[in-house]
Amino acid sequence: MVNYGQLIRTRFAPSPTGFVHIGSLRTALFAYLFARHNNGQIILRIEDTDQSRQVEGAVENLLKVMKHIGIEFDEGFYLDENNTVQERGAFGPYLQSLRLELYQKYAQELIEKKNAYYCFCSSERLDELRKEQTALKKPPMYDGHCRNLNPEELEIKLAEFSAQGGSASGGKFAGKRPVVRFAIPKEGQTVIHDLIYGEMTYENKLLDDQVILKSDGFPTYHLAVVVDDHHMEITHVIRGDEWIPSTPKHILIYQALGWQPSQFAHLPLILNPDKSKLSKRQGDVAVEDFLSKGYLKEALINFVAFLGWNPKTTQEIFSLKDLINKFDLKNINKAAPIFDTNKLDWINGQYIRAKNSGELVNLALSYWEQQGINTESYNRGFLTAILEVEKSRLKTLSEIGERTKYFFELPSYDANLLTWKKSTPEDAKVKLLEIHDLLAQMDNEELKEQNKLETKIKSIIAEKNYDTGSVLWPMRAALTGMPASPSPFEVTSVLAHGPGKNEILRRIKLAADKI
Ligand code: GLU
Repeated sequence: MVNYGQLIRTRFAPSPTGFVHIGSLRTALFAYLFARHNNGQIILRIEDTDQSRQVEGAVENLLKVMKHIGIEFDEGFYLDENNTVQERGAFGPYLQSLRLELYQKYAQELIEKKNAYYCFCSSERLDELRKEQTALKKPPMYDGHCRNLNPEELEIKLAEFSAQGGSASGGKFAGKRPVVRFAIPKEGQTVIHDLIYGEMTYENKLLDDQVILKSDGFPTYHLAVVVDDHHMEITHVIRGDEWIPSTPKHILIYQALGWQPSQFAHLPLILNPDKSKLSKRQGDVAVEDFLSKGYLKEALINFVAFLGWNPKTTQEIFSLKDLINKFDLKNINKAAPIFDTNKLDWINGQYIRAKNSGELVNLALSYWEQQGINTESYNRGFLTAILEVEKSRLKTLSEIGERTKYFFELPSYDANLLTWKKSTPEDAKVKLLEIHDLLAQMDNEELKEQNKLETKIKSIIAEKNYDTGSVLWPMRAALTGMPASPSPFEVTSVLAHGPGKNEILRRIKLAADKI
């Protein structure tokens, strides 16, 4: 364990804009693993300063996903055992819209220190400016128009502006309120010492005078994140690398307020296999959708942990506990990780196989229900036997319904299906009748014993010198009505656990009659 010499405190600070993006889960997971590995703390802070992007129920949804996945925060909002939202921790409130006074206080302090200034520019002027700069192939930046107003000019502007009325928020601003911009120093450089990317140096003159307080009295992300990370005593900020360009501005705000910046670890962007930015389409990237498609939470965690992190061993299957033990920011790659669904399927398959079949039955119930199967009318032994046979073939739980439907209900199929490719329909009929007679002589308990049944049938095949396929193919097809399935011995055994011998014989007889 690295000795950071102080209590590690990190945070996950999502803006609740709807579903949980897989990239967001990665950020939360890495911050969580980092905190737990170092016996530190992780807090959950909700960044809702952009009120126009709020989505009803987004916080509850986020909390639900985190709870289900098993990422637990030491402070901030959480769902209690009744799934009611609660808040805990000594640094709250953990919702930025409830902390406006704090941000306003620091905006004022920055204005007084001349590190920030009021900006009265209209959106028309700013649009015009942006257009001019773009035409000149210059990066769009505020031109400092309001930066150097003298006290008299400022007084007049404030009075004029306020007289326009509008979004009053009391106090000094009875009427319309100007935005506040941070005054980036004109000279010098700002250096980020990133724990993943190393040193990154920025020329201050190329940084924009960012708005830090909006005219509605809300801070922008830039001010709020610095004030909160400082006040919540965050030692390590772990977040996506899309925030790197903002970080020098944040460092300058820290400096202007006389605060020590936290350490930064920016996580490389996740890419699609074609190297494009991971799709934003919800169906492809929402954690909720992966869960409802039947990916196990353990598999999703394991997969997401590998999006950028690598333990540098050949081990690929890691429980959350293993991940906590092994996690180290040093093993995060700068190279952008690829989101490979095949890998996710493989990992999911490994977890499905490792689960005991009884446990899988509980997870499968809703998928059977989706297929219109009323599992209540079947005994648990039958459901468990189905999963015992099928689990090695499943990539996701959602396939269960489709894949196992034939156990509950024989699908309609074409008589051609019954004939093995090297044989004839007449022969298939003969073999089916022989199998029927053989099974009819056995009792249901014997039929459950797949190995015994296999030995018995195979010895008859040998004795009579039959082609194996000429017997096993029609038997399997008759029992399942499917072109592909587990072996006829497995299927017989599973059916014997449920609908039983009568159903087995009925299916074989039905097939023989079809020919
Ligand atoms: N609210 C930001 C987001 O949702 C968080 C950025 C940060 O972690 O600083 O991406």
